[in-house]
Amino acid sequence: MPPAKNPARIDRALYDRVMAPTYAPMRIMPQRGEGARLWDADGKVYLDFAAGIAVSALGHAHPELRRALAEQAGKLWHVSNLLVNAPAIELAQRLCELTFAERVFFANSGSEANEAALKLARRHAHIHFGADKHGIIACDNAFHGRTFFSVCVGGQRKYSDNFGPKPGGIAHVRFNDAAALEARIDDSTCAVILELIQGESGVMPAHPDFVRAAREACERHNALLIFDEVQTGVGRCGALYLHQKLGVIPDILTTAKGLGGGLPIGAMLSRAAVAESFGVGAHGSTFGGNPLACAVANRVLEIIGAPEMLAAVRCKGEMLRDGLAAIGKRFAVFEEIRGEGLLLGCALTPDWRGRARDLVTACARHGLLTLVAGPDVLRLAPPLVIEEAEIAQGLEALAAAVGELAEAGG
Ligand SMILES: *Cc1c(COP(=O)(O)O)cnc(C)c1O
Repeated sequence: MPPAKNPARIDRALYDRVMAPTYAPMRIMPQRGEGARLWDADGKVYLDFAAGIAVSALGHAHPELRRALAEQAGKLWHVSNLLVNAPAIELAQRLCELTFAERVFFANSGSEANEAALKLARRHAHIHFGADKHGIIACDNAFHGRTFFSVCVGGQRKYSDNFGPKPGGIAHVRFNDAAALEARIDDSTCAVILELIQGESGVMPAHPDFVRAAREACERHNALLIFDEVQTGVGRCGALYLHQKLGVIPDILTTAKGLGGGLPIGAMLSRAAVAESFGVGAHGSTFGGNPLACAVANRVLEIIGAPEMLAAVRCKGEMLRDGLAAIGKRFAVFEEIRGEGLLLGCALTPDWRGRARDLVTACARHGLLTLVAGPDVLRLAPPLVIEEAEIAQGLEALAAAVGELAEAGG
């Protein structure tokens, strides 16, 4: 092979030259991962409490997932939806067995799963009640993805402003304000969409009474209730899906992030009577139901769906939460630890507010990868397979990082 025309070192500097400037990634460039650990080219090791934003549910390079991927890679990669494929059928069946759902639509991401859910809700209302029933109610600060429909339904205008005219018929109410939701909903509403924990905007749990009120309000007005469990699903919160813990069943459920264990896949789940409204040609995706992603997702659900696995997530979540509370108290840095299972948010005290990003940077210096959820919340979402010793080690690194920042003048 002739040498490349511009032999360049593949490094962070090259990233800045060749990538669209949409992100501001850390300087770290991992080369390899195993379980809850990542290594860079210099052999420096990081404990990964970010898991690719709550995606790598079974950690990095899980042997079972590697096997599932390699086996499928030797058989069939892609056929599109002009043909059917066994891994997708098996995955749909498994999702139906494990949840309220009777039908599954496959997409490639959380945004696309929500896009499908919102379009289905509109189509369903159109078919059954006519064109005027198209109102969508979402919550302030919600995050539902970055396609233009999903980002406009999301409740942070900074993400949807300045892209031209927005789709209409979308209203926002205050999160956890049942009275506001009840005042806003009417017979022109086709859907209410909720995150059960607002992940991106601060790890804010939905109050069970609010979720129940949304369920009842949707019943009264023939609107569909959509739960966006893109972040809270696939065992992240100690149940396969968080609504199963709450005991409130949606009409449509969206799932992605952890579902593929790191391969891109999303899904929209519903009962048959709702799915019926997506007739042939109503919606689609070239890659949706991709055999590689589905083969891995089947294995992910087999492993995470086991009751022992979910019990372990709850147990490790408690351990992590206790450790975070202790650090919060010791340094007066966290005023509240919220979330469920292994999706936890540490809300900064007034003295520390605005410094979540600084904390993430300091943690990385101490070999710990973490996330923010807005400027005032440190978010942790380690792989569900993290070991107790690794949790303890991560907590030590976090304490060292907080101590260092406190010493440097708080
Ligand atoms: C991450 C996320 C999305 C968007 O998922 P993508 O795969 O990035 O499109 C949507 N909803 C919630 C709740 C999320 O956390």
